[in-house]
Amino acid sequence: MKSAAIILRTDAEIKKLRESNLIVAEVLEVLKGIVEPGITTMDLERACVKELKKRDNKVKAAFKGYRGFPACLCTSVNEEVVHGMPTDKKVLKNGDILSVDFGVEYNGYYGDSAFTVPVGDVSDEAKKLMDVTSRCLEVAIETAIVGNRLYDISNAVQTLAEGNGFSVVKAFVGHGIGTELHEPPQIPNFGEKGRGIRLKEGMVFAIEPMINLGTDDIKVLGDGWTAVTSDGKLSAHFEHSIAITADGPYVLSRL
Ligand code: MG
Ligand code: MG
Repeated sequence: MKSAAIILRTDAEIKKLRESNLIVAEVLEVLKGIVEPGITTMDLERACVKELKKRDNKVKAAFKGYRGFPACLCTSVNEEVVHGMPTDKKVLKNGDILSVDFGVEYNGYYGDSAFTVPVGDVSDEAKKLMDVTSRCLEVAIETAIVGNRLYDISNAVQTLAEGNGFSVVKAFVGHGIGTELHEPPQIPNFGEKGRGIRLKEGMVFAIEPMINLGTDDIKVLGDGWTAVTSDGKLSAHFEHSIAITADGPYVLSRL
């Protein structure tokens, strides 16, 4: 992060952020379509690379090389919360849940989005976890309006998640996004309503609830990246990049 100031983006910049995020959305849509039992997380990585090759060669995968991360995608299965690394060893099985997180940089502007999907038939509790996490993202987005406070967004996520008996991951947060992948402010998925900075037109945020079935406690595996729930129970993750506009939240990473 270059400075603590939150940069307000112009309409022209928001247009560029939309272009980057639309690429992310299109690639994620392709990946969603190939998830099935028997494929590996590296198959998804290869499909992502293939999709990028079809596009303008100025499109760069944002995560690859980020602090040494080795891949374009983060692929996190079941108890993996975020930052799982694609590997040929990870074969998806019926009943798993998979989260895929992807980002690009294009013309100097970043896009970032993530989804969680079932692999084949999953348990009712897995379905509920994914459904609630997805709805946490939607209520958070609806709260991202001019005049509200930053932690109104956080509180919207926490209230819905905990109201359904789930826990909110505290160790990772959403973030501003623009000409850097991670910009101020940090956007926790928990917090007190009415607190935090006042939301203004031109702020661009990546909002990303990470919600656990059991404990909120996580640990990072020996690979230095993969975050898992410390009780081994499921975790889900959804993310959109949004711009706060006079007309309300504009979801940049929605198709
Ligand atoms: Mg992301
Ligand atoms: Mg993000």
